[in-house]
Amino acid sequence: MVYLVGAGPGDPGLLTRRGHDVLARAEVIVYDHLAAPRLLDLAPKDCLRISAGKTIGHCTLSQAEINAVLVEHAGLGRRVVRLKGGDPYVFGRGAEEAEHLRAHGIPFRVVPGVTAALGATSYAGIPVTHRDAASAVAFVTGHDDPDVPGRLDWPALARFPGTLVVYMGVTRLAALCRALVREGKPASTPAALVQSGTTPGQRTVVATLADLADRVAEAGLGPPALLVVGDVVARRPDLGWFEALPLFGRRVVVTRPVDESDRSAGSLEALGAEVLPAPTVEILPIADPGPLDSAIDRLGSFDWLVFTSGNGVRHFLDRLDARGRDLRALGSIKLAAIGPATAEALGAYRLKADLVPDSYRSEALAKALAPHAAGRRILLARADRGRAVLKDELSRIADVEQVPTYRNADVDALPPDVLARIEGGSVDWITLTSSAIAERLYTLLPESARRRVGREIRLATISPVTTAAVARLGWPVAAEAEVYTWDGVVEAIVAAG
Ligand code: SAH
Repeated sequence: MVYLVGAGPGDPGLLTRRGHDVLARAEVIVYDHLAAPRLLDLAPKDCLRISAGKTIGHCTLSQAEINAVLVEHAGLGRRVVRLKGGDPYVFGRGAEEAEHLRAHGIPFRVVPGVTAALGATSYAGIPVTHRDAASAVAFVTGHDDPDVPGRLDWPALARFPGTLVVYMGVTRLAALCRALVREGKPASTPAALVQSGTTPGQRTVVATLADLADRVAEAGLGPPALLVVGDVVARRPDLGWFEALPLFGRRVVVTRPVDESDRSAGSLEALGAEVLPAPTVEILPIADPGPLDSAIDRLGSFDWLVFTSGNGVRHFLDRLDARGRDLRALGSIKLAAIGPATAEALGAYRLKADLVPDSYRSEALAKALAPHAAGRRILLARADRGRAVLKDELSRIADVEQVPTYRNADVDALPPDVLARIEGGSVDWITLTSSAIAERLYTLLPESARRRVGREIRLATISPVTTAAVARLGWPVAAEAEVYTWDGVVEAIVAAG
């Protein structure tokens, strides 16, 4: 089976639910360069990912080769996803691929996508129809030279009573605008070019048919871009929203472990930022679960169970489950969480934290626990490494058993594309959410990149403790969270401007 899936115009959030489901079960993905790279992460780890290329002017695979690859893998009984930018049937040669599959007796399904003409215009503040401005819209290819007789009727397009959206037209922009004016469209008609619509790299130039090509050349816009012609373009000042987001265009490296980075990325992207995931540590199950198992078997002997991260909560309860126990094993034990994200992780199991300190750090947790836990038995469930301060502080007043619940493993290298962007200076912020992450990042960066950090590339930290660790590395910090949570980091970046 082959699924022809529309990836949407760029923003990974514009993939459909069906597209997501199909990707999550894919065995082979053949993808275009216009499909958001992050969508490939939705597929299982062992899924085979094949680039069909098609950067402008460069095809890694020819259309015939793409067709052959689809038939080959589907013929072996694999679940194949053909992931295409926008919608598969809008200027995407999806129909040709489907016809080829059909001819080879291979069943296919089509999952439509948000085509660029709808996605890029919405994000640019241009409605393709409007009761007062356009009652029709035409999707047109600008691929062919309008000065040479071809498949398109330019006089008819010039008379078309509605919005024209021209795909693949940026390299012939001047000729396309001239052809429309020559065939009778007023030179004063509002026109826009939207480059990389729905992505953090979106850029929009608005002018008239007469001068759009010059304005675009001045601004240096290039493919992928859409030409939009019609009175609806004039609505942009009122309807634009995406380019006005507080972090629009900011490029932010997120160094948190993958488990957490998805949610973290979401809150940055909602504010318009481009997120570059570069986890420096990986979260893994504990190598020797012996001590954890032993603590789980003796849960009844503890008064407090203290968690310092959502990962701690999840791994602890996973292990409880794996031992054939369930939540009843917790009995009347009191639960403490270092902060709201940890409390939320407990909430996912319908567990309520009995204590969350006002300030989300080890010192504050120890202080808040002190009046309740004096002389009691505390089980501290945490990572195999990290700051010792919590155990030390609590040990002064209570009987503390610390048990490693999950493992922090250093990654060997940063993703090469992110490293290249850091070295090339095309990054604005790096977020640091713990001292260990900061130190690991420092180790992973070559000298040339380290020097950029703190200058062109600004650092945002989660707390004064992390800031102090960063300062020891010789890096200045440009923003520090006031509330020591991920949202606090995001707020600090917004405030820093
Ligand atoms: N099937 C795709 C179109 C493929 S043709 C779809 O439905 O959107 C490639 C052309 O689509 C590009 O030359 C450009 O004109 C347009 N395009 C694709 N993504 C775009 C984006 N994010 N912003 C602006 N134009 C885009």
